[in-house]
Amino acid sequence: MPLNEPAAIAAAARELAGRFPGTVSLAEERRREFETDFGRWRFRLPAAVARCRSAAEVAAVIRACRELGLPVVSRSQGHTQSGQSLTSGVLLDTSRMNRILAVDEGRGFADCEAGVVWRDLVEATTARGLVPPVLTNNLAVTVSGTTSVAGLGVASFRHGTQADQALEIECVTGEGEVVVCSRERERELFDMVRCSLGQIAAITRVRTRLRETAPRVRQYTLVYDDLGRFMADAAQVMDPANPAFSTLGGLCSPAPMGFRRIGEGLELGRGMIGYGVWLFPMYLTVEYRPGEEPDDAALLAPLSPWRHVQTQDLTVFEFARRMEPMFEAWRLSGYWEQPHPWMEVVLPWAAAREYVESVLANLPPGALGPGGHVLLWPARTDTSAAPLFVHPGGDIVLGWGVLGSVPPARHAEMLAQLDLASELAIAYGGKRYLSGYVTFDSPERWAAHFGPAWPRLCAAKRRYDPDGLLGAEFIRFP
Ligand SMILES: Cc1cc2nc3c(=O)[nH]c(=O)nc-3n(C[C@H](O)[C@H](O)[C@H](O)COP(=O)(O)OP(=O)(O)OC[C@H]3O[C@@H](n4cnc5c(N)ncnc54)[C@H](O)[C@@H]3O)c2cc1C
Repeated sequence: MPLNEPAAIAAAARELAGRFPGTVSLAEERRREFETDFGRWRFRLPAAVARCRSAAEVAAVIRACRELGLPVVSRSQGHTQSGQSLTSGVLLDTSRMNRILAVDEGRGFADCEAGVVWRDLVEATTARGLVPPVLTNNLAVTVSGTTSVAGLGVASFRHGTQADQALEIECVTGEGEVVVCSRERERELFDMVRCSLGQIAAITRVRTRLRETAPRVRQYTLVYDDLGRFMADAAQVMDPANPAFSTLGGLCSPAPMGFRRIGEGLELGRGMIGYGVWLFPMYLTVEYRPGEEPDDAALLAPLSPWRHVQTQDLTVFEFARRMEPMFEAWRLSGYWEQPHPWMEVVLPWAAAREYVESVLANLPPGALGPGGHVLLWPARTDTSAAPLFVHPGGDIVLGWGVLGSVPPARHAEMLAQLDLASELAIAYGGKRYLSGYVTFDSPERWAAHFGPAWPRLCAAKRRYDPDGLLGAEFIRFP
């Protein structure tokens, strides 16, 4: 059992630092860097930070932590949002392990150390006409961070999750053993290390698939004034018999209409509340080579949006980075530095419309703060075979995310509303996506989340991390 008493952890951390000078730091300044995550509402100060440079060093640190009874949490860029990468024990920082070891153009893969950020990989591969099949909206996250969660993107309806793109993973188990696993070798570890949030092993290298790409992307922005029509068109776009579009994404976007009466007087939230009309932008892309521009009219003819508002051409690398201007705006407005308890769920297709419409009906425009937004993410389920990426089943599903941030005074209220929205989504048959605001606090809640995969995950935990050293107490095992 790992230590959990702060004085005992501090003493063991001093011993660890003595054994690994230059790698393990007790400096308060360094530890404070890792006290919180992108969520910025949960805080845990690590007792020590181990900044490792190789799998051998990770293994040596984990073996020593095991001997000393120190809990260990792997951390990449900390873009998770409810303490998934926080610990009061030893924080294993793999950000220095950031070399792209190889790009194999012939066999279509890249070998990346754990801390490689997707942006660097995309820059290296698009220059050679290759691209990772799935990219998340934020390219500043790492190959190990998203392989450990899942990694969903606008191409997931064609290619699944980023975890599905892993061909081989080198990792260090809770026993401090370096193991290389794949679909052909150490299959159980390969299946259980993906999407298990660092609970089974620390990933040190990922071999990830690449696919060929044309150099340019044409992006269409369509707008729907009806979620049902958005979903009907999304289902057409996702039909494997119709491979025209390479990416599909969407938003729920409020057009504010003013304030309406809900009670006596004019006080906001008691007498009056903001209201609006929800619109549903859909973003579609087609890849093309110069001189072979797509036929816009023919491509869009089967679809029935309210309006087609924009067509633009980008390079593949620009398209992958398309959110950077928005993130820059968030930094300028202060949104980036605020707490962000984001809540994402994968909904069964048949129930999705009713659920989304009922939540939006109670979400006044502006309620999510400046920069807040609501994502729509239609996807197919047969594109993913990662056993721990949990979804509700059926052929198609709707990913939905409410990504807000509010001032501290309204924070508790927002968390309560997110809890309600999360419980309602689960009641509708939805499965939570685990990077955001997740507060499952008992083995029973986790068992319900993972369903049939839970016994397998528990067995893998016992086998690969017998002392329960790894992970941020995030997933509660029995
Ligand atoms: C602005 C923004 C946009 C986003 N957009 C998307 C999106 O489009 N799609 C999507 O799927 N997600 C999205 N996310 C969520 C993000 O992709 C995930 O939270 C991702 O896991 C973060 O990666 P990271 O490198 O920051 O990992 P961290 O947050 O540091 O870690 C994530 C988890 O993996 C574990 N972990 C980290 N490194 C290792 C390792 N080496 N070995 C084993 N376990 C490890 C951690 O313990 C933690 O449980 C977004 C987040 C932000 C802030």
